[in-house]
This record gives sequence, structure tokens and C-alpha cells, in this order.
Amino acid sequence: MEFQPSELTQHIAQSARDFARQYIRPHVMEWDESQIFPVEVFKELGKMGMMGVLVPESYGGAGLGYFEYVAIISEIAKVCGSIGLSVAAHNSLCTGHILYFGNERQKQHYLPKLASGEFIGAWGLTEPNTGSDAGNMKCVAQRDGNDWVINGTKCWITHGITGDAAVVICRTGEPRTRDNSTAFIIDRGTPGFRGGKKENKLGMRASETAEMIFDNCRIPDSCRMGEVGEGFKQAMKVLDGGRISIAALSLGIAHGAYEAALQYSKERQQFDQPISNFQGIAFKLADMATEIAAAELLVMQAADLKNRGKSVTKEAAMAKYYASETAVKVANDAVQIFGGYGYTKDFPVEKYYRDAKLCTIGEGTSEIQKIVIAREALKG
Ligand SMILES: Cc1cc2nc3c(=O)[nH]c(=O)nc-3n(C[C@H](O)[C@H](O)[C@H](O)COP(=O)(O)OP(=O)(O)OC[C@H]3O[C@@H](n4cnc5c(N)ncnc54)[C@H](O)[C@@H]3O)c2cc1C
Repeated sequence: MEFQPSELTQHIAQSARDFARQYIRPHVMEWDESQIFPVEVFKELGKMGMMGVLVPESYGGAGLGYFEYVAIISEIAKVCGSIGLSVAAHNSLCTGHILYFGNERQKQHYLPKLASGEFIGAWGLTEPNTGSDAGNMKCVAQRDGNDWVINGTKCWITHGITGDAAVVICRTGEPRTRDNSTAFIIDRGTPGFRGGKKENKLGMRASETAEMIFDNCRIPDSCRMGEVGEGFKQAMKVLDGGRISIAALSLGIAHGAYEAALQYSKERQQFDQPISNFQGIAFKLADMATEIAAAELLVMQAADLKNRGKSVTKEAAMAKYYASETAVKVANDAVQIFGGYGYTKDFPVEKYYRDAKLCTIGEGTSEIQKIVIAREALKG
């Protein structure tokens, strides 16, 4: 594995960093406080190729690999976790699902629109009563001639209201049987499909999270992705890639919190000296730097395997698990280093602290990552 980022990766990272500083940073707290989902930012990111990072150029994407993708997500997340989360969900989940499992007509129709930012993508697996137990879903698609009729609710969906196109995994077989779900791609505005309640969240507040409600929503069979019964298996494959992006998001948040705390520790004076002189603070910084570096290596390992077309189930789960827990710990330490100031909205670390927590929950909780890692480890 190459440890030095290529010139291309460095260049892409710099572009994402410049964009985030210029167009995102000035608005971070306003968007956070008012839960504004800034659609126009994603349109601009689309123009830069960052909404179709992994999509081949032949479908209008940037045709880049996972190293560049990780760089983009973490550079954006250093400045704003919410925007990082939305870019990650759009690229990995909705766009990724179509890229892996869409037929040629679906790819030709959706990928150029998603990659350019003309369309914002959503991906619906989770339901009110089935989160970690996603295979037990209740949202049902019933065959009716050449159509399918969908009834049920998906919840916690990133871009559940604003998404122009949503990949939705519905149950098409008997409950608790194998191969009982199927994926569909559904456009916003389809009769019987609407966005529901928007969640009022602890963190990631500028990333829209909402219900998607299906009430006798009739769609043609041409909206089906892949074979009937493949939905859950497809979703698990999509999540392998998605977990790398949540790991990258965690890295960005951890870096942002660490850099802020490092700087502050050199400026803040107590007992007539910078607080970084105190071993209690310096050791915290040492732990933060070490854990971020370890998380980075796990993320790069998963990205490298993914670039080479290898299975990443275990490595993506490890990267997501470790990087997300690291982000939470680093953000917590950063607030501690800022003391009382860290507890206010005048300094950036309270937001890192709130945003980081999502990374241990979304796209499979830390407990679920440990189940995946253990299952893979015990296979041999
Ligand atoms: C901001 C945000 C954005 C999201 N975006 C999307 C999206 O775009 N699309 C989508 O489909 N979903 C999305 N989700 C949903 C997310 O993936 C789920 O919240 C997550 O999978 C956990 O499900 P749950 O919330 O129902 O928790 P539950 O499954 O109810 O878990 C509750 C607790 O029990 C633990 N637990 C559950 N089962 C086990 C077990 N077998 N062993 C040990 N512990 C267990 C969990 O780890 C957790 O600690 C999003 C969530 C959030 C908060």
C-alpha cells in the first residue's frame, strides 16, 4: 500500500479544502442552528465533480478512486460534518447503489444527473422498527401486473424530503424469510411518495434527515434494480463502500477537532504559561494524534482494497468502527482542552463533539460493526 498520497489525491484534497473554507466555513453555524440544508452548495460541488466522485467519466462522473473520495469527504468534514455526511450519502448510497446494481438504462438516466448535482440522491433502508435489524423491514412492495405498489415508511433518510431520486429497499417476500426484499429507484413527485417529518437533531444539523412515506405508490417494474429478492444483499454491498465514507467523515471531524485543540492549547495561558506545557494536556494531544493516525491507516487500507476490487466487508467495518469511536473521543478531548470556552458556540469544538456522535450510529452502529468484524474473523 502506498502511504504517500499521489499528486492527484493532493490536488483533489486541496480543491475540497479551498471550497470548504471559502463557501462552507462562513455559514457553518447559521446552517447548524437553523437546520438549513444548503442545496446550492451541492450544486456547486457537482460542478467540481464531487457529487459523482466514483462515477466513471462515461456517465458524467469524475472517474476517481477511493483515495480521492476519502480526501474529499474528510476535507469537507474538517469544516462541516453535515455537508460531509450529505456528500457521502449522496455518493456512496444512492449513486453507489445505481452504479453497482442499476441496469444500463437506469445508469444512463440517473448517473449524469446525480454526478452533476442536478439531482440530490437519497437511499432508504431504515424503518421506524427496523434499524440494525434492517432485513426485517415492513415497507412492502406488492406486484400488480407490470407495476409494483409500495406502502410503508422509511425513516432517518438523508435527503428524505429534498432527494430528487431515492433508492428504496422494500420487502417483496414473506417476513423473516431469505431474499425477501428488492430495491427500486423512485423519483420525487411520484404520486403516493412524499417526504415526512424532518428530524431535529443533536448534530449534523445541516444534513437533512427525514421520513419517506409511501402510500399506495405505484411504480412500473422498470424502476426495479436487479433481481427480485436481491435488495438486502445489494444494500449490504453498498454499505461496505458507505462505511468507508463514514470512516472518512469521522477522520475529517477528528482532524478538525484536534487541530483546533492543538492551536488553542498553545494560545491559552493559565498559571502564566500555555496550557500545552501541562503534561495532562500534552498527553491528551499525543493520544489524539496517535489515534487519528491509526484510524487513517485503517481507512487507507479499506480504500486501497476497494480500489483493487477486493472484498472490504471486514476492513470497511474496522475502519468505520475505529475511526468513528476515535472521532467521538478526540472531539470530547478537544472540548476538555478548550475548557468552558469549548462548551460555547463561540468556538468550533462543541459542534465537532455533536457531529462526531452520528458516525458511531449511521450506516451501522459500532455494535453492528463489531458483529460484522467478528463474523468475518470467525469465518476462517
Ligand atoms: C443522521 C442520520 C442519518 C441517517 N441516514 C440514513 C440514510 O440515509 N438511509 C438509511 O437507510 N438510514 C439512515 N440512517 C439510519 C441509521 O443507519 C440507523 O439509525 C442505524 O442503522 C441504527 O438503527 P436504529 O437507529 O434503529 O437503532 P437500533 O437498531 O434500534 O439500535 C439501538 C441500539 O441497540 C444496539 N443493537 C441493535 N442490535 C444489536 C445487536 N444485534 N447486538 C448488539 N447491539 C445491538 C445498537 O448498536 C444501538 O446501540 C441515518 C441515521 C441518522 C441518525
